[in-house]
Amino acid sequence: MLTSLLIANRGEIACRIIRTARRLGLRTVAVYSDADTNALHVRSADEAVHIGPSPARESYLVGEKIIAAARATGAEAIHPGYGFLSENADFAQAVLDAGLVWVGPRPDSIRAMGLKDAAKARMIAAGVPVTPGYLGEDQSPTRLQSEADAIGYPILIKAVAGGGGKGMRRVDAPEDFVDALASCQREAASSFGDDRVLLEKYILSPRHIEVQVFGDTHGNIVHLFERDCSLQRRHQKVIEEAPAPGMDPATREAICAAAVRAARAVDYVGAGTIEFIADASSGLSADRIWFMEMNTRLQVEHPVTEEITGVDLVEWQLRVASGEPLPKRQEELSINGHAIEARLYAEDPAKGFLPSTGRLAVFDLDRFRSSARIDTGVERGGEISPFYDPMIAKIIGHAADRTEAAEDVVGELLNCAIWPVQTNAGFLVGLLREEAFLEGRVDTGLIERNIETLTAEPEPAAGILNAAMRVLDRASDNQTFTACDLVDRGGSTAWSIDNGFRLNGPSVLTARLIDQHGNIHTFELGNGVDPAFVQRQDGWAIVPELGFTFAFKPYAIYGSATASAGNGTILAPMPGRIIAVDVAAGDAVTRGQKLLTLEAMKMEHSLTAPFDGTVAELNAVAGAQVQVEALLARIEPKPEE
Ligand code: ADP
Ligand code: ADP
Ligand code: MG
Repeated sequence: MLTSLLIANRGEIACRIIRTARRLGLRTVAVYSDADTNALHVRSADEAVHIGPSPARESYLVGEKIIAAARATGAEAIHPGYGFLSENADFAQAVLDAGLVWVGPRPDSIRAMGLKDAAKARMIAAGVPVTPGYLGEDQSPTRLQSEADAIGYPILIKAVAGGGGKGMRRVDAPEDFVDALASCQREAASSFGDDRVLLEKYILSPRHIEVQVFGDTHGNIVHLFERDCSLQRRHQKVIEEAPAPGMDPATREAICAAAVRAARAVDYVGAGTIEFIADASSGLSADRIWFMEMNTRLQVEHPVTEEITGVDLVEWQLRVASGEPLPKRQEELSINGHAIEARLYAEDPAKGFLPSTGRLAVFDLDRFRSSARIDTGVERGGEISPFYDPMIAKIIGHAADRTEAAEDVVGELLNCAIWPVQTNAGFLVGLLREEAFLEGRVDTGLIERNIETLTAEPEPAAGILNAAMRVLDRASDNQTFTACDLVDRGGSTAWSIDNGFRLNGPSVLTARLIDQHGNIHTFELGNGVDPAFVQRQDGWAIVPELGFTFAFKPYAIYGSATASAGNGTILAPMPGRIIAVDVAAGDAVTRGQKLLTLEAMKMEHSLTAPFDGTVAELNAVAGAQVQVEALLARIEPKPEE
């Protein structure tokens, strides 16, 4: 067995590999860029080596730096994780040439499967059914168009060097072909440095089904059954599960056998995935499932396979890299229950899934210690940087059946609190509760068909607003209240309304809160349905609900949209866009004078000088988008005369 390992990756996958390596007694070495100086994977490893600036091109993608780090620390082997250099055959070769162990397939196998056209040609030779299409050398637009016409629309144009859902265009009619081809080639050239394309029949009612395979250096190859990754947005996986819903034993047997044939055709060693596309218009059937591509690495969604088979795939990778035979034979592998994984991303579904970066002031993923498995690479106080993939965590539920597994994941997502970074947790909850999903009727278009409802943010219920109000009233920062606090402390708790203020007659008191998006909520004070917990942080009440994390502040302090405090700082009262700046740094201003205009919630808000003085600091720039409480300007009071 190996004794030391360098992990050429970051985030959750680096942490996950370190966990297994440690359990097996290996010394672990992490690498990190500037942005990851304080990252969890760095602190989890026995040793860590700085490999350069934050952009991946200058750090995680620089093979020489990683090999040098392995040399400097005496690491014996390199595990690439997924993404980054994991499917780079030249890097794998360089690792071997440096006398190190490469935890992955032989460079030749990576190369053979690296380009989609060559891989498909090889699969045809190995007797694996492939998606009908055109793989030809002739890349002239006229030839491609006539091939497309012959295949019949809709067709899919794919970059041969493509990956990660990029470089693909669906074409529905012959007259759209030329434009789609040009745009696909442009994207392929800029993303992959190779503008060649292939054509495929676009499968209607497509389901993405893939098979986990594993080979060792002794010539053994097994499969670990299938996963269904049909829940995708823009060809990228969002929720994955194993086994595939509705898969009958004969079909499973057929595609798993085809996957093993595919792996054998390239003398595969280590963990790999054969991806298939299935026409699921009338159930799954082996004669309507075709090879799409092979990923010659560990896959993001590998945990669902681990959960149903009880196999630690990273352990197998390390054993195989050490030269050991596969720990189990095919007949010793079986499926136990059902597992579902949801990818939690730092992004804002309500804003077109815009990545959301920043510090994780609140990061509470497992408040109620659910049974779900959580693979993450960040923690409270950590940072979501704009430099890398914004995946925060994977939530994996495993249970006797599919419904229970989905409930495990939902339960986890419902109680997660993450702030001020926005996440897709609410979107995932909606998806996992979607009727078609629960019935197992999944296909790659399901998300897009329901995108409106899935991305709509709910209105906070009165009970939530009341709970937030109470915590803002009474609590100080960094305190958390659970629903139990209500019961425990009787009438005068932070939750119950005992406001002594009474007018004559029935007392209906209204209050106002503003949320992190600048929405104002007017509501009646009273007792209502209570959320599971409320946390107070930096003057905000943070309330998780249905996977959404609401944050509220009393609206009163923003009432006049002027500087709140006497210290002259002008903060953005809500997120918005600066549309005009009327002063310059150093200007003398008088109380009430307009300083700038912020457009938010389709309204213009004038921010004015709180007192006579001078503009000591001016950060506001016309046209700029600002976050709530961004420091826009600072007014220094006029000295006393
Ligand atoms: P999968 O089927 O495993 O999702 P993808 O091809 O979509 O396969 O990519 C796997 C993961 O690797 C993605 O989730 C992404 O986060 C990461 N990844 C892909 N390409 C890169 C890259 N160039 N740099 C960093 N991470 C990447
Ligand atoms: P990538 O390398 O980007 O992962 P794939 O070839 O694996 O590219 O395709 C990504 C996704 O695109 C698939 O998971 C599937 O949803 C969709 N897709 C690919 N080929 C087809 C096809 N022929 N018909 C319908 N959908 C397809
Ligand atoms: Mg793929």
